[in-house]
Amino acid sequence: MHDLVIRRGTVVDGTGRPRFEADVAVDGGVITQIGRVARGRREIDAHDLLVAPGWVDVHTHYDGQVTWDPLLAPSSWHGVTTVVMGNCGVGFAPVRPGSEDFLIELMEGVEDIPGTALHEGISWGWESFPEYLDALAGMKRAVDVAAQVPHCAVRAYVLGERAHDDEVSGDEIAEMSRLTRDALRAGAIGFTTSRTILHRSRHGLVPGTHSTPDELLGIGRALGEAGHGVFEMVSDMQGQEPDLTWMKEFCRTTGRAITFAIAQTFVQRDAWRETLARAQQLAAGGLAIVPQVACRPTGMLFGLQSSFHPFILYPTYRDRLHALPLAERATRMRDPQVRAQMLSEDLDTQDPIARILLTNWTQMFPLGDPPDYEPPAERSIAAIAERTGRRPEEVAYDQMVENDGRQFLFAPLANYLDYDFEVIREMMLHPRTVLGLSDGGAHCGLICDASMPTFLLTHWARDRKRGERIPIEQAVRLQTANTAAVYGFADRGVIAPGKKADLNVIDFDALALHAPEMVFDLPAGGRRLVQRVDGYRATIVSGEVTFEDGAPTGALPGQLVRAG
Ligand SMILES: [Zn+2]
Repeated sequence: MHDLVIRRGTVVDGTGRPRFEADVAVDGGVITQIGRVARGRREIDAHDLLVAPGWVDVHTHYDGQVTWDPLLAPSSWHGVTTVVMGNCGVGFAPVRPGSEDFLIELMEGVEDIPGTALHEGISWGWESFPEYLDALAGMKRAVDVAAQVPHCAVRAYVLGERAHDDEVSGDEIAEMSRLTRDALRAGAIGFTTSRTILHRSRHGLVPGTHSTPDELLGIGRALGEAGHGVFEMVSDMQGQEPDLTWMKEFCRTTGRAITFAIAQTFVQRDAWRETLARAQQLAAGGLAIVPQVACRPTGMLFGLQSSFHPFILYPTYRDRLHALPLAERATRMRDPQVRAQMLSEDLDTQDPIARILLTNWTQMFPLGDPPDYEPPAERSIAAIAERTGRRPEEVAYDQMVENDGRQFLFAPLANYLDYDFEVIREMMLHPRTVLGLSDGGAHCGLICDASMPTFLLTHWARDRKRGERIPIEQAVRLQTANTAAVYGFADRGVIAPGKKADLNVIDFDALALHAPEMVFDLPAGGRRLVQRVDGYRATIVSGEVTFEDGAPTGALPGQLVRAG
């Protein structure tokens, strides 16, 4: 008698091979048999349902939430069974007693996670990174988590007040390298840094944004010494010079992989394609340069509850409306007089980035319900305005006050210059890329992309009409075997005897994303955007059912994944 049998499902096993009908048997948290198997103490009837490995999401920011929320929603709602945290250089260890607030401010600034929630939610109780890992290992949760060493925290720990300095001494580099090596030996699965001018806190650009190659290579040496770990970064260079030289040097001297986000933007229209071609060339020489790509554009959601939207800097809104409760705000905004006043005003800011983002009407679309993430050009606010003889501001305004102010405008940050997903498709299917960038747990007031693993199935494998789809076998592989392989998770990502029993049982026809919504359930009443989903019949972690028809079962089999 097996512990658990998933009976007669359509198995998409993560390797990319064609789906097949089979039973899957689980014993002791491990997959033991696939085919026709004996009875189980528990059986799940998966007839007409998909059985896939649990999703491995390598780009999240649950570093704080992981210490207070055993469910790690919304990722866990979407079939994610392993999350990688500590991305983009921000996180909460190592930390000198007394400097916790500084790390919270960085996380709040870069990832838009409410500082009050982090203050109230995190219990601390560690100083070194190994101590942080031990603290995580001692907590129960529904999903497996793995942690990377964030450069900002390491810099703050070693440099103190000088954390933001560009130049550091050889001794300081050696100390940062030692801390990183010790963290990796204790089970950290990577080191991460930020090199983008978009990542700021109230202290300015985050520590290490302009680190020298000496520093990056010096710290990077730790990964070679530990013999494991991925170097992750977010960089405005997108894999081009001046990053490229030290990146190649890093891969050559350590034998480790480096991964970084790429995207098509209006300032870098074609850089991504060169970066992909170069990654392919360098792979032939054994260098693991792994561009990280998303399965839909990183999408800002502009709504009245968002931290950023087209009217947030209008004087009347800022001074008279912003602080009102949502329903009252929407009602007031529908008042013709208020509407006329608002639409006679303009953004009260000279910040060029804000002005561009908040008036980019050709790249703003009503998201709708069900949400449409690949809208045609004629659905943009600019196109609707032109068609109806209104100003774009009027169209956006009227959209946003609909549904009591709960309507969102979808504003893709990148990858949507041609008004379809062909660029994204090329990125996803490139042999050197890895799927990531869901940013689970982050950007709580503006972005909700933790649902990307579900979208991969609903949109790419089933619903897409504006171009070619991706066969489901390939789509599943991208979010399982592929992501697991980049991070060296050899025990998961495929359905095979001996692998960890992390599984999803999915009603593929019924799988459906809800419209995103703002909820106020973080500690201290902090807000976050979440997105519900239907169609996950069961999610299984280490052989235990953690979610059944979208509801948590109370089982908390998740563990800390330690590398090495
Ligand atoms: Zn990130």
